[in-house]
Amino acid sequence: MATEYNTILIRYGELFLKGNNRSYFESLLIKNIKAALAGISFKFVKSRGRFFIEDFADPDKCEILDRLKKVFGIHSISPAIKTPTDLSLISEIASQIAPQEGTFRVTVKRADKRIDMRSMDIAAKIGGDMLSRAPKRKVELYQFDFELHVDIRENGFSYVFYETIMGAQGLPSGCSGKAMLLLSGGIDSPVAAYMMAKRGLNVVCVHYHSFPYTGELALQKVVDLASKLHPYIPHIELNVVPFTEIQYAIHEHCPQEFMITIMRRFMMRIAERLAKIKKCGALITGESLGQVASQTMESIQTTNAVVTLPVFRPLIGNDKDEIIAVAQKIDTFDISIRPYEDCCTVFLPKNPVIHPKMEDVIRYEQRLDIETLIAKALEGVEMKTISPER
Ligand code: ATP
Ligand code: MG
Repeated sequence: MATEYNTILIRYGELFLKGNNRSYFESLLIKNIKAALAGISFKFVKSRGRFFIEDFADPDKCEILDRLKKVFGIHSISPAIKTPTDLSLISEIASQIAPQEGTFRVTVKRADKRIDMRSMDIAAKIGGDMLSRAPKRKVELYQFDFELHVDIRENGFSYVFYETIMGAQGLPSGCSGKAMLLLSGGIDSPVAAYMMAKRGLNVVCVHYHSFPYTGELALQKVVDLASKLHPYIPHIELNVVPFTEIQYAIHEHCPQEFMITIMRRFMMRIAERLAKIKKCGALITGESLGQVASQTMESIQTTNAVVTLPVFRPLIGNDKDEIIAVAQKIDTFDISIRPYEDCCTVFLPKNPVIHPKMEDVIRYEQRLDIETLIAKALEGVEMKTISPER
């Protein structure tokens, strides 16, 4: 009798999905699951409202579970034992895999109507067998330490499991479309990417690089951040935009306290141009209200004013501690705190304006050849390939 977990059962939520919407959601989720498990040999089985991963090598099991935990759209996962539908065999497996003591219940789902017993009676029989094999177990239907599940399918096989691991939840990456993330090397923007990917967005990243003030290591940091996001966003892309010339121009022609405000406006404009080329329907930033001078309401107003696409700021209401907690959970924090300069710190003015007035900003910007600067920056865009960090 096989008692190793030879199957992984995947549940996906979102009960509101109906008709075409449902099959679109399912096929995207299947594509993302297969992409997440690239390089591992397995069989994918689709059943009603569930998926099964089967026929994998036992040593790959932990890796499969780890990767599945990062796929948005999966509600929960259970390692299970697939066995021919034979009640005495199922009882024996159930008894072996379940804890030897504690309160429990057995829940049976019977899709195979050829079995001439009610689900409740099957559960009672299996529960009884489990009790006779381990007397320190006790049946409690409502408040229990563990729940043993038996799924009897139509194909002559049943799945036995008791462990349920929470999935990443959310919606499958891509089902809400594509958005352009302004990815710095900091703590916030990778977290913003994670949060929007959770709502089904595929993310294209843009990073502004100030060579030679920010060197290869600063760029590597951003590549590493994008790689960490890869499991959550399987088709993540990174575009690096040369930003030094724009910074020189602002530095030379505009008052220093407006440096950051005007830089941000350039970042937003370029992001929007790229977004249109890459067919993205929104921009994403890691801004949080009041975090720094460039994130006051007036600053956000001035930077928002140069774009027409919606700007998603999922962290706008979060404290830094809350953002750090997510960064640690998704493992981007240690990369984000590597001590390399970012393009904003290189030209950081001593007293950035905290409440910039729109008319001042526009007046100063008129000293610059905005279109030529943007066109040159776009010509220098370099696309980096991002592979998962494994
Ligand atoms: P982060 O916000 O990612 O922790 P940070 O705090 O250093 O980095 P801020 O100065 O708070 O960055 O910038 C606010 C937002 O502007 C960032 O969250 C990011 O979306 C965008 N941004 C800043 N610098 C860059 C950059 N060099 N390239 C791309 N986007 C950037
Ligand atoms: Mg920030």
